[in-house]
Amino acid sequence: MTTETSSAPNFIRNQIREEIESGQSQKIVTRFPPEPNGFLHIGHAKSICLNFGLAEQFGGDCHLRFDDTNPAKEEQAYIDAIKEDVSWLGFQWAGDIRFASDYFDQLYAWAQYLIQAGKAYVDDLSPDEIREYRGTLTEAGRPSPYRDRSADENLDLLERMRQGEFAEGEKVLRAKIDMASPNINLRDPILYRIRHAHHHQTGDKWKIYPSYDFTHGQSDAIEGITHSVCTLEFEDHRPLYEWFLNQLPVPTKPRQIEFARLNLNYTLTSKRKLKLLVDNGIVEGWDDPRMPTISGMRRRGYTPASLRKFCEMIGVTRADGGLVDIAMLTHAIRSDLEDNAPRAMCVLNPLKVVLTNVDEHHEEVYEVPGHPAREDMPVRKIPFNRELWIDRDDFMEEPPKKFFRLAPGKEVRLRNSYVIRCDEVIKNAEGEIEELRCSVDFDTLGKNPEGRKVKGVIHWVSARHGVPVEVRLYDNLFLVEQPDKDKDADFLDHLNPESLVTVKGIGEPSLANADNEDRYQFERVGYFCADRHDSRPDHLVFNRTVGLKDTWAKMQKKG
Ligand code: ATP
Ligand code: MG
Repeated sequence: MTTETSSAPNFIRNQIREEIESGQSQKIVTRFPPEPNGFLHIGHAKSICLNFGLAEQFGGDCHLRFDDTNPAKEEQAYIDAIKEDVSWLGFQWAGDIRFASDYFDQLYAWAQYLIQAGKAYVDDLSPDEIREYRGTLTEAGRPSPYRDRSADENLDLLERMRQGEFAEGEKVLRAKIDMASPNINLRDPILYRIRHAHHHQTGDKWKIYPSYDFTHGQSDAIEGITHSVCTLEFEDHRPLYEWFLNQLPVPTKPRQIEFARLNLNYTLTSKRKLKLLVDNGIVEGWDDPRMPTISGMRRRGYTPASLRKFCEMIGVTRADGGLVDIAMLTHAIRSDLEDNAPRAMCVLNPLKVVLTNVDEHHEEVYEVPGHPAREDMPVRKIPFNRELWIDRDDFMEEPPKKFFRLAPGKEVRLRNSYVIRCDEVIKNAEGEIEELRCSVDFDTLGKNPEGRKVKGVIHWVSARHGVPVEVRLYDNLFLVEQPDKDKDADFLDHLNPESLVTVKGIGEPSLANADNEDRYQFERVGYFCADRHDSRPDHLVFNRTVGLKDTWAKMQKKG
């Protein structure tokens, strides 16, 4: 059984533990701050497990705050999906859901405060000019000609920007910091832009919206966040984050800590690119089971426990660790399902077998454990009679030497049942195999045949009792490890044309009771989950979550 829990180092957890032990920190407060402009993906799962996990571990709080400063790209549907994903992963945010937009009044007052302190100004340069004046990594920026407006003029202009007197792009509010700073983020960053947009939370109240940088740290400070954990691309923003906290009369001083984002091979972790797959109809939607979104993985059959375990296994570091192997993710789900999914037999590519020495009215029912190691799972009843289905792949007319399944004149064991021998192959007019005629050795139930060794065991389903199932065989969406590696090429060129193959299979009768999202191991085939949207009692649909072969566990053994 694969129940080992290997966890990798987590430097933030270690750091907080030390702070608590030394008395430097008491109650910690973290937050998970998604922008509601798409569904959450596996990278966000890492951030969720980290932020909520820290709060859980150290008896603190974790807030769920929507970072909603860009109304043009945001939607209520995304907010709803994000809440559902966080809950499904097993986490509960402290207090109500929060929105950065809850703080727009306070942020506006702080913008006025900066103006009065001579630390902010309204700039009339165009976006292109601002970019040009900003300079480059090797070249200092130049001050805008509007940099030295009086506080009164700035206050008046800002207020008129807010009232909607100016067009988008006509003016911005900027912090007055240092146009020569080696850190470009400090070259008078933008605090407010004019946007005549309707906002999902604040309606038409605002004609100006604060920038991410002007919003994030102050929102943290308002909420009393102690540890503001974010990904490494914000490292260069930290001096600005701290600058605002030092200039403004904020109630608390959060600390920003950066960690390396998760990158997975064969997987896109960018909402923008995932949205492209959705918008172009390449997948069925954000929760298509091929999507690395939390809701897609859920639909595919991943469990919350397996995603949390995966996040524990990858650890948290500051080193940009390159690509994580998706085999590690599939290992996490496979070992969870190995322990917790009931077994069933299901034939994906049915081939009829007629047992010529079994009477037409003969019927046996085997009682088989739901799971080999779990007595708490209900026993399955497996009927056996004259006509069965087996998988086409388990028969070969001209088998190679080491083929231990069925072949003309050869014997194989039916799982949980007898040994049968293939006596005759029936073909149709096109020469395709239509049916096998086999005979049962009645002396072999639960024991080996006298004097013969039968190596192969195959799964099967009674033709009379089997239930038809639609089975969706999912595979990676992309054929290459880093579909978006080449910035100038189109990642859509690397799509896997066989990322979804649908087949009509036949399952054992116990599958008729499958509720949506029930997960099974189809013996010898893989792990499957009843589709939460499409599966119905009269039309069962199973999604392949993952195959049986654990390449990651194998690699670990080899070392
Ligand atoms: P994307 O690049 O996919 O649009 P984002 O960073 O813009 O993602 P946000 O909604 O701003 O998405 O992210 C919310 C939180 O999730 C942030 O704290 C962000 O750092 C974190 N996060 C996003 N992607 C990853 C990732 N691949 N690994 C770890 N954390 C991530
Ligand atoms: Mg972002």
